[in-house]
Amino acid sequence: MKAAVQKAINRVEVEEVPEPVTQPEQVKVKIAFAGICGTDIEILHGQFGLVKPEFPKIEGHEASGVIVEVGSKTKLGYQVGQRVAMVPAAPCGACYFCRNGQEAFCEHNTMYSGAFAEYGVYGEGQVFPLPDEVSLEVGTMLEPLSIAMRGCDVGRVGPGKSVAILGSGPIGLLTLMVAERSGASKILVSEPVAYKREFAERMGATRTVDPTSEDVASVGFELTGGRGFDAVFDCTGKLEAARQAVHLAGPGGHVVWAAVYPVGKEVGVSPWLLYEKDLSIHGLFQSPYFLWRASAMLPVLDLEPLITHVYPLERINEAFADQMAGRVMKALIQP
Ligand SMILES: [Zn+2]
Ligand SMILES: [Zn+2]
Repeated sequence: MKAAVQKAINRVEVEEVPEPVTQPEQVKVKIAFAGICGTDIEILHGQFGLVKPEFPKIEGHEASGVIVEVGSKTKLGYQVGQRVAMVPAAPCGACYFCRNGQEAFCEHNTMYSGAFAEYGVYGEGQVFPLPDEVSLEVGTMLEPLSIAMRGCDVGRVGPGKSVAILGSGPIGLLTLMVAERSGASKILVSEPVAYKREFAERMGATRTVDPTSEDVASVGFELTGGRGFDAVFDCTGKLEAARQAVHLAGPGGHVVWAAVYPVGKEVGVSPWLLYEKDLSIHGLFQSPYFLWRASAMLPVLDLEPLITHVYPLERINEAFADQMAGRVMKALIQP
């Protein structure tokens, strides 16, 4: 089969590789689409803290496709021909963390088979059936949507709450959609790239800000009657934005660092500020608890407009370049 194989840092080549072999507890999927995620770019640069820069490897974890083979020891009744979305990891269900409500930290996760390829094999816990009305393109949004849902959950977004979102890439926009559905009264979105800011405007942000020309804090405090926000999300992964998120939060506010940050870097946060404002700061490490609920939201939210570009597998390097240049919202690879 054809696959995009990463050979070295910043070097991906499309070539023939053997098809993966389905284990008895797995299903094999003909990949329809695989989204490019921010972490794929970090892996490309050898900078993602969870993935060692070891090669060759095939990436791609936000995927959808059609089941072509079902292992003999599967239990959930999956059928050949069934349309599914796939997610990066399946927790074992038995270890300490799995039995403590912390599946994200499972010590025996089944990890993904890279989806920038024609076929992939997945444990049953990594595939989710797609409702008929959800396109295979939108199916790739299952995992990022689950992250946004978990973010709004830990950020206690609810009716009447005020929300600030830093960065309107896919995670920022999904957070905006979920916050709006959750009843947020005011949503501020800060984004330097005009193309991305316009998405936030179309999708119902109360106010958008270009942080390169406006002072986000003054706009934010004005919007919230001088109090600051009930929930603030950093969806940029930039240290300066993570720091700024803390300052935008109002009394009792929740700050969610909803991004992947560089390993070993620190952000100065005043403990006095946390005391004075009774703030909580949350990290977001995966979202296995939200996948079934996220799959129930796929047909409810209007996700098609987020998918702006589809590239054939052969053009994956062009897709990476466009993604890095901020020219696309969500890019999909079609193997
Ligand atoms: Zn992702
Ligand atoms: Zn486990």
